[in-house]
Amino acid sequence: MTRRILLLIAIVVLACQTDEFPPAEQANQSVVRDVPDPKVVIFVMDGPRYQDSFGDPSHVHVEDIWTQLRPLGTICSNFRNSSLTMTVSGHANMLTGVWQYLNNEGLERPQQPTLFEYYRKATGAPQTDAVLVGGKPKLGACAYSTHPAYGAAYGALADISNPTDLATYDRLINLLDTNAPRLVVASFSQLDQKGHTGVWSQYVRQMEIVDSLAALTWNYLQSDPDYSNQTYMFITADHGRHDDAHGGFQNHGDTCWGCQQVIFLALGPDVRQNYEVTNLHTQRDVCTTVGEILGFETPYTNGFAMDEIFNPISTGIDD
Ligand SMILES: [Zn+2]
Ligand SMILES: [Zn+2]
Repeated sequence: MTRRILLLIAIVVLACQTDEFPPAEQANQSVVRDVPDPKVVIFVMDGPRYQDSFGDPSHVHVEDIWTQLRPLGTICSNFRNSSLTMTVSGHANMLTGVWQYLNNEGLERPQQPTLFEYYRKATGAPQTDAVLVGGKPKLGACAYSTHPAYGAAYGALADISNPTDLATYDRLINLLDTNAPRLVVASFSQLDQKGHTGVWSQYVRQMEIVDSLAALTWNYLQSDPDYSNQTYMFITADHGRHDDAHGGFQNHGDTCWGCQQVIFLALGPDVRQNYEVTNLHTQRDVCTTVGEILGFETPYTNGFAMDEIFNPISTGIDD
């Protein structure tokens, strides 16, 4: 039973104990309807610049996401990485809910628990149920933290040396098909590598490939009985890339708008369709929100639950 449902029960119980029904201050409380066996897939595009992707009015390099998936979900158009806009920290921000400033060669692990550890410790789930797949071996630093109460015993099954984004996708589908993991982070690294070449045509071509893989992943999830109608997918990024006033798309890593502004689209059974959230959210909120969806506590995070992305539930009161 998720925290959201417990909250709903608490509201109903409280409502029944008062003369006023519903209590005015609680009548507009938003909670989410139950999903019996929720799963989460975080689809990370490594380093797409916002202005070249979700922020491009033509959306020509993210056409599949924009035409097929965006109408099904909620975008956050003010979503930030406000720490180190590098790969390891960007992933660790989302996984720990704490701003991270980690060595970007993978030599340093976060000190706070990752989502994989929270999930496995809270539920007793096996390693095969918490998966990190990608194309950069240094992502292994994000598979588990150094926190003494958590750590390697609760870490992810990490498969992070895939040579191409197509190989990462194939491995992702293979893992979904084999073990039906409930918590998955898939990181598409080749996009960033193409960006670093400084060759615009290679960078946007790779973005178009990853865009198609995002749509294929969602379609796969909806075709698989283990996942259909009970899976939340977030399409997001670890960081952006320099805006044109700060060096352009080739590199990233500072605090410019281009590096900090990150794409975010949420899909799932009770996510609002064709909706846009303009309030500021940050990568830290991913940890908190995933904890809420899967029903476990994330006590070391500094993030906030992204409640606006979900449909308000009917309480049966004053509908
Ligand atoms: Zn990156
Ligand atoms: Zn920058």
